[in-house]
Amino acid sequence: MIIKPKFRDFICVTAHPEGCKENVLEQINYAEKCKSPNRFKKVLIIGASTGYGLSSRIVSAFGYKASTIGIVFEKQASRNRTATAGWYNTAAFEEKALEKGYYSRTINGDAFSKEIKQKTINLIKKDLGKVDLVIYSIASPRRKDPATGKTYYSFLKPVGKAYKNKTVNFHTFEVSNIEIQPATDDEINQTVNVMGGQDWKLWIDELVEADVLSKGATTIAYSYMGPEITYPIYRQGTIGKAKEDLEEASLQLDNKLKPINGKAFVSVNKALVTQSSSAIPVVPLYVSVLDKVMKQKGIDESCIEQIDRLFSKINKDDFELDEANRIRLDDMEMREDVQEEVRDIWNKITTENIKELTNIESFRKDFFKLFGFEHKNINYEKDTHAEVNITNIIE
Ligand code: NAD
Repeated sequence: MIIKPKFRDFICVTAHPEGCKENVLEQINYAEKCKSPNRFKKVLIIGASTGYGLSSRIVSAFGYKASTIGIVFEKQASRNRTATAGWYNTAAFEEKALEKGYYSRTINGDAFSKEIKQKTINLIKKDLGKVDLVIYSIASPRRKDPATGKTYYSFLKPVGKAYKNKTVNFHTFEVSNIEIQPATDDEINQTVNVMGGQDWKLWIDELVEADVLSKGATTIAYSYMGPEITYPIYRQGTIGKAKEDLEEASLQLDNKLKPINGKAFVSVNKALVTQSSSAIPVVPLYVSVLDKVMKQKGIDESCIEQIDRLFSKINKDDFELDEANRIRLDDMEMREDVQEEVRDIWNKITTENIKELTNIESFRKDFFKLFGFEHKNINYEKDTHAEVNITNIIE
C-alpha cells in the first residue's frame, strides 16, 4: 500500500510503519545514553504506545534495562486501513526489546476495563512476581465505567464563562478568534470521570489487593499546568478540573501505599506536540510560540528528554517537590523570562506573520511525524506493508 497522510482537523487517520519505527529508534538512541543508576527494574506503563507513555517505556527499558509491561489500546491494519501509530510504535519497541534481550510484553485492550486489569495482574504474577514502578499516562476522549457500564466523554471547554482567544488551523496556518461556550456541570463531571484520578486509583487498588507491588513501589501520573493564556481552556477548564482530581488522587494513593513504603506522585510535564495536545483549542498555537522561545534559549526538551529528567529525579533518595507534592518538569516552560516572551509574541500573532513569529511550520511537521510521516530518509511513494505484527502482544 502507498501510505500518505490523510487527516481531518487534528486527527491523522493513516500512519506509516517505517516512519513510526524511525521515531521509536530515535528515542531508543537517546535513551541508551542515559547513565544514572536505576532502582526500578520492573515497570508497568499504562498508556504506553504514544507520547509521554511511550517515552516512559523507552527510558525504562533502553535507558535502564528494566523489564516492562505496556498497556495500549491500538488497532492492527485491516483491508485498506493502516494500523494506528501506537500499534507501529509498539511493534518497533517490542522488536528492539527482543533483539536486546529485555523482557517486555504488551497487553492491547481498554485499560479502563476490569478485564485488562486482571490480565495485567495475571501476567505480573506469572512473569515478574511484582512491579516496582507504575506509570499512568492515559489520555482518552471517553471512558466506560467498569462498575456501571456507562460511557463518559471528555470535553475541552472553559468552566464558568465563555473563553475567547486566538487559535490556529495548523494545516492552513490561518489565525482566527474562537469563542468557546462554558461546559455544563454534566460535561465537567464527565471529563473528571474520564481524565481524573478514578481509573488510576482503581489500578493501584487492584495491584495492591493482588499483592503485585514491591516494597517501596512508586506510581506516577502525568499532569499539566500551563500559562495564563491557556488557563481558561486548560487549567481552569474541564480538563483542569480532571487534573485537580488526578492530583488529589496522588495524595490518596500516597497514603494507601504507606504500608508497603510506596509513594505516589503527579509529574507536571511540559507542553509538547502529541496526539492529545493537538486536539485542544488554542494549545497548538501556544506550543508553536513556546517551541520558538525555548529553542532560542536552548532549553527546549522533547518527550524523551523530559522523561529522562524525570527518571534521574526519581532515582534519587531525595528530590524536589512543589507545595502540592508534585514533581515539576515544566519548570523551564514556566520560567518568567520564557512566559514574558511568549506573551509578547502572542499579542502580535496574525495570519500574516505567524510563520515568522512562531514555530508553526515545525509544529505541523512534528504533528505528522507522530504518525510516521515527514522523515527525509523514507520514500513515501514506495509500496509498504501496512500489516505489521507485534511480538509479545497479548490481546
Ligand atoms: P497521547 O495521546 O500521546 O498518549 C495517550 C496514551 O493513552 C496512548 O498510549 C493511548 O493508546 C493510551 N490510551 C488511551 N485510551 C486508552 C485506553 N482506554 N486503554 C489503554 N490505553 C489508552 O497523549 P500524551 O500527551 O502523551 O498524554 C499522556 C499524559 O500526559 C496525559 O495525562 C496528559 O494530560 C499528560 N500531559 C501531556 C502533555 C502534552 O503537552 N502532551 C503535557 C503534560 C502532561
